[in-house]
Amino acid sequence: MPVPLRGTFDYQHPDILAPGVRVRVPFGARALTGLVVEAPVEPPAGLVLRAITAVVDKEPLLSLEQLDLLRFVADYYHHPLGEVLFGALPAGLKKGQLPHWPKAYRLTEKGLAQETGTFGRAQRLRSFWERLKEAQILSDTDVKMLGRGTKALLKTLLAQGLAEECSPVPCQATPFDPVILRMDQHAAYEAVQAMLGQFQPFLLFGVTGSGKTEVYLQLIADLLARQQQVLVLVPEIGLTPQLVARFQARLGVTIGVLHSGCSEGERVRVWSQAAAGHIGVVVGTRSAVFVPLKNPGLIVVDEEHDGSFKQQDGFRYHARDIAVLRAQKAGIPIVLGSATPSLETYRHAIEGRYDLLRLPQRGPDRALPRMRIVDLGREGVQGGLTASLFQAVRDRLSRREQVLLFLNRRGYAPVLLCPECRWHAPCDRCDARLTVHLAKHVLRCHHCGHERPLPSMCPQCQHPRLLRVGEGTQRIEEALRHRLPEARIARIDRDTVTSRLAFEKLLHQVRSHEIDVLVGTQMLAKGHDFPELTLVGVINADQGLHGTDFRADELLFAQMVQVAGRAGRAGKPGEVIIQTYHPDHRLWDPLARLDYEAFAKLALQDRKDTGFPPYSHCALLRAEALKPDLPGRFLEAAKGLGQGSPHILLGSVLPATLSRRAGYYRAQLLATSLKRSALQSWLTTWLERLATIPASGVRWSIDVDPHSLF
Ligand code: ADP
Ligand code: ZN
Ligand code: ZN
Repeated sequence: MPVPLRGTFDYQHPDILAPGVRVRVPFGARALTGLVVEAPVEPPAGLVLRAITAVVDKEPLLSLEQLDLLRFVADYYHHPLGEVLFGALPAGLKKGQLPHWPKAYRLTEKGLAQETGTFGRAQRLRSFWERLKEAQILSDTDVKMLGRGTKALLKTLLAQGLAEECSPVPCQATPFDPVILRMDQHAAYEAVQAMLGQFQPFLLFGVTGSGKTEVYLQLIADLLARQQQVLVLVPEIGLTPQLVARFQARLGVTIGVLHSGCSEGERVRVWSQAAAGHIGVVVGTRSAVFVPLKNPGLIVVDEEHDGSFKQQDGFRYHARDIAVLRAQKAGIPIVLGSATPSLETYRHAIEGRYDLLRLPQRGPDRALPRMRIVDLGREGVQGGLTASLFQAVRDRLSRREQVLLFLNRRGYAPVLLCPECRWHAPCDRCDARLTVHLAKHVLRCHHCGHERPLPSMCPQCQHPRLLRVGEGTQRIEEALRHRLPEARIARIDRDTVTSRLAFEKLLHQVRSHEIDVLVGTQMLAKGHDFPELTLVGVINADQGLHGTDFRADELLFAQMVQVAGRAGRAGKPGEVIIQTYHPDHRLWDPLARLDYEAFAKLALQDRKDTGFPPYSHCALLRAEALKPDLPGRFLEAAKGLGQGSPHILLGSVLPATLSRRAGYYRAQLLATSLKRSALQSWLTTWLERLATIPASGVRWSIDVDPHSLF
C-alpha cells in the first residue's frame, strides 16, 4: 500500500492474481490502490480478510525482476515497501492510470498469401494491407500516423484473420557516422564490449571533454544493434536539451527522456514504452533508475559522484548504488563515468572490483590552468581577498578579461581561527575543528557534540581578535565594488539567481562581456564555456580541508576540477588562485596539480584513519519535533535500545546543523559499523524496537549511507 507503514497487508480474492498487478482495496475507512506483491498467501488462522474490490491491471505493471529489486532496495534502505514500490512508479500510474502499452501488428500467413485482386473495390483496405505487408510490423502509433480511418481498416484485417497482434520491436537505429575513437577511448570501449551479457562495473575516469560521452555513444549503438536497451543516468544539471539532441542525432533513434520536468503523461508514456521494449535508450535523472526495461543490455551513470543521485528526503536512496545493484541482478555491465569519482567508487576500482578505464587526454583547446596556493595568514586580507588575488583581479580587468571569485561555503558552518598563531579551535576529543554557532554563542564539535563558550581571545597566544572563517558572497561583493568602482560585478547565489531565466540572462551577460567579475557560491554548470574568463579565485578553501563533514575533501576536489575547467582556453592560459590558512596541508599538493588519483589515495588514507566511509558504513537516524527537547529525548531512548552490539558504534545525540527548520527542532544520531551486513541486521532489529518508544509529536527517519552528516 502507498502508505508510510512497514509491512504488507493481506486481502482476499477469488482468483490468484499475478504479483505486480494493482488492485483497489478498502484501507481503514478509505479506498486505496495497492500493488500485489505476493499471491497466494496463507492468512493467519482465524483472521477474516477484507476483499479486493477491483483489479486495475490485466497484466502486471512491474515484472518479477523489478519487484525483486525493489524489495531488496526497501530492505536495504529500511524504508516501507509500499512507499518504495509506488515511489518507483510515475505519478500517473500511482494515481491509478493505465499504462500505454504499445501494440504492434503484422499479417498472418493467410494475410500474406492474400492476392491483390481479392480486395475488389475495397481500395483503401487494399492499400493498408499493402502497407502492412511492406512494413512487416506496424505499431499502433504507426497506424495512427497513416491517416484517418486506418484504425477501422486494421480492425477489418484483424476480424478477417488477415492480421494479428504481435510483440513490438524497438525502433531500428538508422546508421550513423561515428567519430573514430582515439586509442584510449577505443581501449575503454573494447573493455566494456567484451563484457556485454555479464555483470561488470567499470569506472570510466576522464575529465570533461576527454571523450567519455563518445565512448558511451559507441557502446549504445552496439547494443541497439543487438536489440538491447540502455539506461543512461545523468545528474540533474547534466540533462540538457543539447545532450538529448546529441544522443538523438548520433544514434538515430528516439530517446526516452525522464526527469522531474516531464509532464505526467510523458512519464507514463516513456515508462510504458521502455517496459515494453519499444524504446532503446532512456536518459534520465535520479528516479529514472527505476524505469522498467524489457531487455536491458547496459547501464551508464555519467558524473557518478554527483550529489543529485542521492535522494535527500523521504525515501533516501542513492540512484548510482541502485544502478549497480540493478546491473548485477540483470547480469549486464555498468559504466560509471567521472573526472572526480566518489571515493567509494574509486576504492572499488583500485581494489579491483570495478574495472578502471582511464581517458587521460583532454580536448584540443583545453590546457591545465596554472594553480597557485596563497597563504591567507601571511598576506594582508582585505574584503576577503589577499593582496596577491586582488592584484591578479586588477591585472585581468586591465586586460579586459573576466574573473570568477568562488566561495566554497555549501553546507559548512564557519570555523574560528587565530590569525597570529593559527590556533584553529580543535576538539579535544576528535580530530576535528569546532564550528561557530552564533545563536548559542558556542563552539561545537560535529563529531562528538562537545561544546564550549566562544572565546573572546586566542587561548594559545592571547591574540585579541579571532577570525570567523567563511565569509559571505555579499560581503565580498561589497568590498570589491568599493575597491574597484569601475568594474562590473555580478553575484550569483540564491538571492540573486531566483529562476532558470535569471540564470540564463546572467550567462548571456557573461558571454557578451557585460560583466567583469562574477562572485558566487554556486558552481557554473558543466559545459558553460567563457573564453574570456582567465582567472578563478577561491576565496577560502579550508572548509574543504577541515570540513565538518567527512565528504568535504571529496567535494572540494570535485569543485576545484570544475573551477579549473572554467579558467582559460587555447591561447589564453588560465590561472586558479586558491586562498588558504593552511598552505602546508598535504592535500594541496595533489590538488594544485589537479591529480585526482594522488589526491584520492591520501583522502582514502584519511578516511581509513578516521573510520569514515568507504571504510565504514553509516546510518543516520534523524528526528524532529515542534517541542525543542523531544527529538533529543527520542534519540537518547533510541540509543539506549541500540546499544550492546559489538559491531555497532553509536555516536552522540547531536543537534542538526540547521537545528531548527520550518519550526521543527532537529537532532540526529549516527550509527557506524565496519561491516555492512552487521549494520544491516542490527538496523532491522533496532528499527523494530524504535516503534515501541512513545514518541508522539516526533517525526523520525533513517538515512542509510547518508551523503553528508548534516
Ligand atoms: P566528455 O563526455 O568526457 O565530456 P565528450 O565525449 O563530450 O567528452 O567529448 C568532448 C568533445 O570532443 C565533443 O565535442 C566530442 O564530439 C569530441 N570528441 C570526443 N572524442 C572524439 C574523437 N575520438 N574524435 C573526434 N572528436 C571527439
Ligand atoms: Zn593565537
Ligand atoms: Zn569532538
